[in-house]
Amino acid sequence: MTHIAPKVELRNIDLRYFTFDGETEALSDFSLAVLPGEFVAIVGQSGCGKSTLLSLIAGILEPTDGDVLVNGAQVEGPSPLCGYMLQQDHLFEWRTILDNVLLGAEIQGLDPGAAATRAESLLRGYGLGDFLSHFPHQLSGGMRQRAALARTLCTDPEILLLDEPFSALDFQTRLALSDEVAEILRREGKTVILVTHDISEAVSMADRVIVMTKRPGQVKAVHDISFKDSGNGRPRPFEARSQQEFQQYFDRIWGELDIHVGN
Ligand code: ADP
Ligand code: MG
Repeated sequence: MTHIAPKVELRNIDLRYFTFDGETEALSDFSLAVLPGEFVAIVGQSGCGKSTLLSLIAGILEPTDGDVLVNGAQVEGPSPLCGYMLQQDHLFEWRTILDNVLLGAEIQGLDPGAAATRAESLLRGYGLGDFLSHFPHQLSGGMRQRAALARTLCTDPEILLLDEPFSALDFQTRLALSDEVAEILRREGKTVILVTHDISEAVSMADRVIVMTKRPGQVKAVHDISFKDSGNGRPRPFEARSQQEFQQYFDRIWGELDIHVGN
């Protein structure tokens, strides 16, 4: 069997936050390897260290102990290899949609002409071709999140870090958008790490679901997600939700998360 080198690797990570009131251990001995082109979802309760994990991979935080590697090299700060997408779209209200999408390319000093061509083609592809000169407040929540995705993809990162990117949207928009986004990222061959507290989202979108313990976050369980072949390989997320296996994965992960109502 040939060995495929991981795209992202976390080895025995410990992360402590030091504050005036003392210290918080957010992650403890957390290890994970993500292969190129893999779509991994990480689920865990609020406060278990999910956003902390993404910040480590993005090079925004340094581990207290352990190693973070991207493409086999130690992460030593933010790099254009990783694109980050958050719950809030963080679009600048005073910039047009096109200029918002061009922001990362500007910061990275990429060729403006080539970046504009790519930005426009991404926006057209996401159904926003008529909104290039509009301002964010003129768009719906789902359209804004699509613009945010275009901005993240405009610099062509190899790795996408998604931090609960759909959780501020209403249910229907969330379903439609997660379906679209999963398709886009698969088509582009991106390596994706999605963190979410939404089990359905994780199971319907990802190749593999990592369940985290409560804080300090550790890996509690790992599930390889597969659905009976519906003819053309993996079902789209929307379709996956109605498959028999979906409910089984959901129930098992629900049990592992150990959520008690009222606590
Ligand atoms: P999640 O994204 O799973 O909700 P986080 O990674 O944001 O969890 O946080 C994990 C834990 O670390 C929480 O208890 C949180 O309060 C704490 N924490 C997060 N960021 C900081 C910080 N900058 N300083 C101190 N504690 C923090
Ligand atoms: Mg978070």
